[in-house]
Amino acid sequence: MADKVERLKTLIIGSGPAGYTAAIYASRADLKPVLYTGMEPGGQLTTTTEVDNFPGYPEGVDGPTMMVQLQKQAERFGTEVRIGMITAVNFSDEVGGIHKVTVDDSKIIEAETVIISTGATAKYLGIPSEQKLRGGGVSACAVCDGFFYKGQEVAIVGAGDTAAEEASYLANICKKVTMLVRRDEMRASKAMQHRVNSLDNIEIRYNTEVDTVLGDQVVEGLRMVNNVTGEKEDIAITGLFIAIGHKPNTDIFKGQLEMDETGYIITHGKTTKTSKPGVFASGDVQDKEYRQAVTAAGTGCMAALDAERYLATIESHQEVSS
Ligand code: NDP
Repeated sequence: MADKVERLKTLIIGSGPAGYTAAIYASRADLKPVLYTGMEPGGQLTTTTEVDNFPGYPEGVDGPTMMVQLQKQAERFGTEVRIGMITAVNFSDEVGGIHKVTVDDSKIIEAETVIISTGATAKYLGIPSEQKLRGGGVSACAVCDGFFYKGQEVAIVGAGDTAAEEASYLANICKKVTMLVRRDEMRASKAMQHRVNSLDNIEIRYNTEVDTVLGDQVVEGLRMVNNVTGEKEDIAITGLFIAIGHKPNTDIFKGQLEMDETGYIITHGKTTKTSKPGVFASGDVQDKEYRQAVTAAGTGCMAALDAERYLATIESHQEVSS
């Protein structure tokens, strides 16, 4: 049951690079933001070890450390970071309207602007041997973790554009990439398929799925199964990349905001504006293409600037009409 109502200028939902960057900009603009972390404080980067591709870290940084630093930077300018889940939203359709948001099924927040940075979650196969070795050689991000497998043999599961792109990326770094495609054809665009087919060190195995990821502490091999013949085969690999898609964390916004057919929030033009005035989206929740920490951070900055400009427009209208 709802018990308390709190009024905010800016509420930020989510604590990945997009949310914290939005918080840094919003707090410096004196919007006094409150940021709710969600279930996974720090977001997807906390599941990564070394981040080597975020500008400004010449020696690299581990994901959890980077997120703590981002949080501290946001707090330094006055962001209030709270642990909590947003469990329901009721966004206003009116320009200048108040958005109602429920936290942990109990507390109600009324916000003039809301920045959604709830991210996306990589899909995994869900089999026990894969789950056991997550972080021990099983990864859902070739761009983040591929470098650790330089000169080694790896495998990738999936047949969409992401899998094709990541297979090509890995082929540049690794000795050999075995690509497991569960059907007899790929879903990826023809251009991406062509790219994969043109690389000598990618071996595509059609009608093939993962039976078991082999290894105790770290990945040592893969037992594959042909789903037509039932035949099993073991190969030696040190890394397994899962590229079977992401799920944007947008369930609580369904029916409130315009989304594409896969649940990503649609933003308008080169802005972070959603279909509701005063509600902005940044990071992977609105980006299925780039999905990098640095691009998420960039759109977090944009969302705070969009919120600031929106509030300034509302305030100037109110002054004119009063
Ligand atoms: P997709 O949903 O397009 O593809 C997922 C792939 O994973 C499919 O080939 C699917 O197989 C396979 N898959 C799903 N579940 C399993 C499973 N349990 N076991 C084995 N394989 C499985 O996801 P993507 O991330 O590839 O792409 C998402 C969107 O982003 C697409 O619209 C894509 O075009 C776009 N994108 C564009 C890029 C670009 O233009 N540069 C780059 C990356 C993404 P099946 O085909 O049999 O269903």
